[in-house]
Amino acid sequence: MFLNKGRCGGCRACIAVCPTGILELSDELNYRIAYIPKVKEGKEKYCTACRRCEFACPDWCIYVLDEEKASSERAKT
Ligand code: SF4
Ligand code: SF4
Repeated sequence: MFLNKGRCGGCRACIAVCPTGILELSDELNYRIAYIPKVKEGKEKYCTACRRCEFACPDWCIYVLDEEKASSERAKT
């Protein structure tokens, strides 16, 4: 999950929709004076790349890359 930190409004929608519960608010404030989300420590491997966080974000600041899919696509070319 990639986050454009500056765009985040801190609404927590991504945290609410993540089915694996791996997201939480960090203590980092951006210039919008919003606490931005982060992946809980050591939980990256539990991301299923379902993209619910990406679709839920009203500020379009999350991008999810499915690395397994991306590498298999690269292998085909
Ligand atoms: S892609 Fe799915 S599992 Fe991964 S952080 Fe987003 S909502 Fe959670
Ligand atoms: S849904 Fe988007 S704007 Fe809301 S906290 Fe998550 S990253 Fe920030």
